[in-house]
Amino acid sequence: MMTTTSRPFRSDNPALDNALGQLAGAVEILGYHAGIHETLATPRREINVAVPLRRDDGTVQVFRGHRVQHNVSRGPGKGGLRFHPSVDIDEVRALAMLMTWKCAVVDLPYGGAKGGVDIDPSEHSVSELERVTRRYTSEIMPLIGPTQDIMAPDMGTGEREMAWVMDTYSVNVGHTIPAVVTGKPLAIGGSRGRGTATARGIYHVADAAMTHAGDRLKGSRVAVQGFGKVGANAAKIFADEGAVVTHVSDAFGAVANGDGLDVDALLAHVAATGSVVGFDRADVVEGAAVLTADVDVLVPAAIDSVITVDNASDVKARYVVEGANGPTTQDADTILGKNGVTVVPDILANAGGVIVSYFEWVQANQTYWWTDAEIEDRLAGRMRSAYTEVAHHASDHELTLRDAALVIGVQRVADAHRLRGLYP
Ligand code: NAD
Repeated sequence: MMTTTSRPFRSDNPALDNALGQLAGAVEILGYHAGIHETLATPRREINVAVPLRRDDGTVQVFRGHRVQHNVSRGPGKGGLRFHPSVDIDEVRALAMLMTWKCAVVDLPYGGAKGGVDIDPSEHSVSELERVTRRYTSEIMPLIGPTQDIMAPDMGTGEREMAWVMDTYSVNVGHTIPAVVTGKPLAIGGSRGRGTATARGIYHVADAAMTHAGDRLKGSRVAVQGFGKVGANAAKIFADEGAVVTHVSDAFGAVANGDGLDVDALLAHVAATGSVVGFDRADVVEGAAVLTADVDVLVPAAIDSVITVDNASDVKARYVVEGANGPTTQDADTILGKNGVTVVPDILANAGGVIVSYFEWVQANQTYWWTDAEIEDRLAGRMRSAYTEVAHHASDHELTLRDAALVIGVQRVADAHRLRGLYP
C-alpha cells in the first residue's frame, strides 16, 4: 500500500488538531493511503443549529448547538451532549472522532458522534435548561434516533437532560423510545451502574496497568483533577479499593491531604456547597498543583488539553489514566513517554461509560433489565480484556498504549469501510 506521512487536515482548535494528529500517527503506522486517511478524518454528517431560549425574565438569548456524526460504518453514532460555554463545532468534531475510535477499541457496534451547546449551565435556571435541551433536541431530530445516533451525558449534562431529550424525541415521534438516549434515570429505562460506569472503568484499567507492571493499586497515592460525574466517582472508587486519594480539584479550586482525603466526607461537603473548596479536613492548594502532585496515579477527569509542554515534565505520577477526553496534548504525551510515565489513553481509560451505555441500549431494545452484578461483571470483563489486547499490541509492536489503542480502533473502522465498500 502507498503510505502518506502528510496530514490532510490541521486545525486552529487544539482539541481537533490533537485528534487529527493522533489519526495521522495511526494511519502512518498502519500504512494506509491518502484516500482512507481523508475518509477517516472527515466527519460523515454535521448539523449546526440556533438554540433560542426564552429566559425566565422574558428576554431571548440565542445559543449555538452542534451534532456531529464522525463515522457510522460500524453502527449508529454514539456520543455525549456537552453544555459548556467553550463548545464549538471543531471541539465537537474532535470529540466525535474520539468516540469513533473509543467504540471500536472496546468493540461496540457503534460509530462516533458528539453534540454540544455553548451554554454555561450554572448561569441558568432548571426551567431554562429544560427549554434549551428540548429546543436543541427538536432542532437535531432528523439526525438522531435509536438506530441512527444515540445521545448520552457529557460535561454539563446528566440524567435529567437525558430524560428531557428522550421525552422530546418520543413526544414528536408519538410513542416512547427509551433507546434514543443512554444515561437516563433508572425509572424511565436507565441502566444500573451507568452513573459510576466511567469511573469504574478507570479503576479497572488503572488496576490492570499497575498489575501488568508489577505494582499494586492498593496503598498507591492518587490525584484526581475534576470532581464531577467522572472525577468524584473515581476518587470514591479508588479510595474504596484501598488507594490513598491525596489531591482533588474542581473548577473552583483544589484541596489536598498527604494522609489521604476522607472522600465520603468530601462528597458530602460538595453535595452541600457545590465545590471541594472550603473542605476543612484538607489543605488548600493551587488547582494546577494537582497535575504535578507527588503521587503514583494521576486521573485528569475535567477538561481537555490540561497536560501540556508547560507542565508535562513536572508530572510525578508514574501512571496517567485519562478520565477526561483529550487531557494530554500530543507534545506533552511525547514528554510523558520519554519520562517513563505509563499513559492509559482516554479512548480506552474512559470507555466504561459508553460500554454501560451500550448495555443500557441493549436492555432498552429488549425491554429486559440486568442486575448490578451482571452490569459490573460485564463492564469489568470488557475493560480488562480491552486493556490486555491494547497492552499486548503495544508490546508486540513497540508502541505506546495510546498508539496501540488508536491503531486497533482505526483499523477496525477502516476494515468496516473496506468490507462495506464505497457507495455508489
Ligand atoms: P462534569 O460536568 O460532571 O464534571 C466536570 C468537573 O470538572 C467538575 O467538577 C468541574 O468543576 C471540573 N472542572 C472544570 N474545569 C476545571 C478545571 N479547569 N480544573 C479543574 N476542574 C475543572 O463532567 P464529567 O461528565 O465528569 O466529564 C469530565 C470529563 O470526562 C470530560 O472530558 C468528559 O468528556 C469526559 N468523559 C465523561 C464521561 C461520562 O460518563 N460522564 C465518559 C467519558 C468521558
